[in-house]
Amino acid sequence: MTDKRSGKIVVVSHCILNVHSLEDNLAIYPGLEQEVVELLIKKGVGIYQIPCPEIELSSIFRKALPKESYDHPKIRKAYRKLAEEITQTLSSYTKKGYKISAVLGAEGSPTCGIDFVGRWKKNIEGKREFPRDIEFVPGMGVFMEEFKTCFEKIDVHPAWVGIPGKSLRSIDPKSFDETLKKLEKIL
Ligand code: SF4
Repeated sequence: MTDKRSGKIVVVSHCILNVHSLEDNLAIYPGLEQEVVELLIKKGVGIYQIPCPEIELSSIFRKALPKESYDHPKIRKAYRKLAEEITQTLSSYTKKGYKISAVLGAEGSPTCGIDFVGRWKKNIEGKREFPRDIEFVPGMGVFMEEFKTCFEKIDVHPAWVGIPGKSLRSIDPKSFDETLKKLEKIL
């Protein structure tokens, strides 16, 4: 590099920089995920913010739902198109020699989860309610699955890190700090 740029870019789910994209009652910051952003600033990386796939698809007035509500061919097709467009843009950065160091998703999200997604608990009687009747299981959100496939096609292999949100932090309070430590080592 001939100037001060680090040459490192971190791709983030939209809500990490803008909690207003989340469904109601899920934000635990007034504006953005402060500790994550502070770490990215400290590490001197550029930040590329993905548009919120659920807002593109279902609007800002949507309700929170588990993965099975999003894992349908039409939704997957729309997410794949978005993932392909973003990948095309990001591939120009890698062609210029910059490194995509990490993709930060929103852990537990049916769309942007990395290692965990929510699903309806089994054997619920009567009307199911979110988040009461949700459990988190290993799996990747539908958009991130498509996005990762796109990256693999262009032979780009960042670290995939899920930032635990409100629900996962309430189940496992240590998970957020552990994720930050993991990210600090990666960057
Ligand atoms: S997790 Fe993904 S789909 Fe959900 S608000 Fe964040 S960016 Fe949007």
